[in-house]
Amino acid sequence: MAVVLIDLHTHSTVSDGTQPPAEVVASAVEAGVDVLALTDHDSTAGWEEASQAARTLGVTFVPGLEISCSRDGVSIHLLSYLHDPDEPNLAATLKAARDSREQRAERMVELLAQDVDITWESVLEQVEPGATIGRPHIADALVARGVVADRAEAFADLLSARGHYYVRHYAPDPAEAVRLVVGAGGVPVMAHPAASSRGRVVEDTVIEDLVDAGLAGLEVDHVDHTPAERAHLRELAARWDLLETGSSDYHGEGKPNRLGECTTSPEAFDAIVARARGTAVVR
Ligand code: AMP
Ligand code: FE
Ligand code: ZN
Ligand code: FE
Repeated sequence: MAVVLIDLHTHSTVSDGTQPPAEVVASAVEAGVDVLALTDHDSTAGWEEASQAARTLGVTFVPGLEISCSRDGVSIHLLSYLHDPDEPNLAATLKAARDSREQRAERMVELLAQDVDITWESVLEQVEPGATIGRPHIADALVARGVVADRAEAFADLLSARGHYYVRHYAPDPAEAVRLVVGAGGVPVMAHPAASSRGRVVEDTVIEDLVDAGLAGLEVDHVDHTPAERAHLRELAARWDLLETGSSDYHGEGKPNRLGECTTSPEAFDAIVARARGTAVVR
């Protein structure tokens, strides 16, 4: 039987990916992906375009989202699958996060402009209208101006969360986000829970707290996880009866992550679909 490639975490120009939603779908088909989720940061604005492209190109499409959360100053990302995008409580939280991100980006650029060649206009040139703005867009403006070579170099220093120019934005507590996703009929899965290479990660007790709130799964296989981190997450998933997923976290040219490099089992995918109440899979 043919292997089915299921990749449940990707980004488009609706957030910090570098390809529009339809191009992400086309690239997924080229990479041999059979089931694809689009999970832009704090926005579902890419669903429609991706759905249409998926129907045309014959790939199964899973509407998704990645919610930026924060607990005690630690950044946590929560994936949501198949929720109702019109559910007002979740929609309002996402809108508040996007608005706060806009102010925060402007403030970071103000601080950066004291020391490097950057303007707010040059950052806006890097953002599609209506997209969720983030540090990657500031990085792209720095690249365009020749201040740094690529996003990675920008994040290593100028845009680092420990750096001089970092400003926080509003982000819900992850337990609240889990409840919002469940309330919108979605399936919440914690993204890259143990990726210590990305910055500080939370204690297992925080994950347990999210389980109590209704967390459905853990993204175990992610390029930022070491083999030891994956083994530990598998133990946690078994202990708390959670689904295990694997995904690429593709950002186009914005990151080295390649489509389909980590994947989810058909059994885990079927379990996600069976739990969802908000939106249908596009087949
Ligand atoms: P923000 O949400 O605005 O604080 O920015 C964080 C986003 O930047 C994450 O979603 C990552 O996708 C992206 N990011 C973090 N580190 C890097 C890096 N070294 N290279 C490229 N993108 C990164
Ligand atoms: Fe990102
Ligand atoms: Zn993430
Ligand atoms: Fe992501």
